[in-house]
Amino acid sequence: MKTVSEAIKVILEHIEPCGSEEVSIFDSTGRVLAEDVYSNRDHPPYDVSAMDGYAVRSEDIGTASRENPAVLTIVDDIKAGSMPKRAVEGGQAVRIMTGAPVPQGADTVVRVEDTDTDGTVVKIFTPAPAGTDIRRKGENLREGEQVLHAGMDLKPAEVGILAMVKKSKVRVGRRPSVAVLSTGDELEGLEEEFDPLKIPDANSYTLMAQLTLTGALPQVLGIARDKKEELRKRLLEALRYDAVVVSGGVSVGHHDFVRETIKELGIDMKFWRVAIRPGHPFAFGVSESGIPLFALPGNPVSALVCFEVFVVPAIRKMLGAKRLFRRAIRVTVGGVIKDKRGRTNFMRVRLENTADTTVARLTGRQGSGILMNVVGADGLLIVPEECTILEEGDTAVCQLIGVQSFQERPPVSDA
Ligand code: AMP
Ligand code: MG
Repeated sequence: MKTVSEAIKVILEHIEPCGSEEVSIFDSTGRVLAEDVYSNRDHPPYDVSAMDGYAVRSEDIGTASRENPAVLTIVDDIKAGSMPKRAVEGGQAVRIMTGAPVPQGADTVVRVEDTDTDGTVVKIFTPAPAGTDIRRKGENLREGEQVLHAGMDLKPAEVGILAMVKKSKVRVGRRPSVAVLSTGDELEGLEEEFDPLKIPDANSYTLMAQLTLTGALPQVLGIARDKKEELRKRLLEALRYDAVVVSGGVSVGHHDFVRETIKELGIDMKFWRVAIRPGHPFAFGVSESGIPLFALPGNPVSALVCFEVFVVPAIRKMLGAKRLFRRAIRVTVGGVIKDKRGRTNFMRVRLENTADTTVARLTGRQGSGILMNVVGADGLLIVPEECTILEEGDTAVCQLIGVQSFQERPPVSDA
């Protein structure tokens, strides 16, 4: 049986990025950058004002105060987008707007709130050392500098930088199409009449949502019944996509044909079991043509947790992302948590910020069928394999869910 970190390692060894495509900046949000981006200019292009106010010589206002203001003659008025027409000399000031170039001779800007004017002269009420409220040429972008790296997530600021360097088209990682298949005779499809003896297929939709939020393109194939021939047909169909996520039928139940069928299809199973709770019957394999297959447990919470822990990093690698793992944070445990030895437990918690820490509390009973106790959860509290109890006030690591923030290192590692 593999540990969680061993399983993650094996999976990632068998995953390759899906290649890249060029998209318009309008379609770039949330994609993973697949090229390095350099600045073709300095920004700001000159020293510019950071405030609406007056550009002056700092030596002229060194002793200025409200009672004893420095009185300077206004000689020019510069808007953002126009160049100063003249230099500032001793005893002079130039009215300047935010973003406008600072004229020659001036070495500081006084904000309009610290001044008063009749239109001809300006009274300055405060000193401002050289450099105050001046944005230096190139302080945001430097010509020739690498500003974005391949593998970065295109979030709002990154998209804004693309616009600042006039990149209207950008190369991003191709989004993998991932087949989602549920298995089980007991399952009832979304369109079927409600039957109290059947179990509604939740996993297809939970996994669809997780894939979408991770940047993949889910292809929901529906339910395969526990018949070998049908399973075989549906799995063959699923293997036409970039990856396959199948749930149910991987334990040792009488009708669990998934493992058998997978083997018959020539898929090389790398492992069948992982020391994780919930979700111990989690399997991973690769088809002859290199398509990864994730066989998740049927219980809805187990499927969801195994996806977060094992499938998210794989999808991120397929996208070409540098940060593969969901963000994990240190938290303080908000109540006694007991656990059995031998498996890494991912427990559903809600987080609450106090004055000096973030406290994690269980959302309720941790049964692998209680999907309602994942509703509103903020994270998965990680209880290590050999740990049997966490006391109130202990610290632990919590992997966030439902937050699009990633990190380079896995949240779990072996000692
Ligand atoms: P299995 O892994 O097939 O033995 O399934 C374990 C449990 O999860 C059983 O109670 C199944 O009915 C349930 N289950 C399996 N697949 C799904 C699904 N797609 N949606 C909701 N529950 C499921
Ligand atoms: Mg089943």
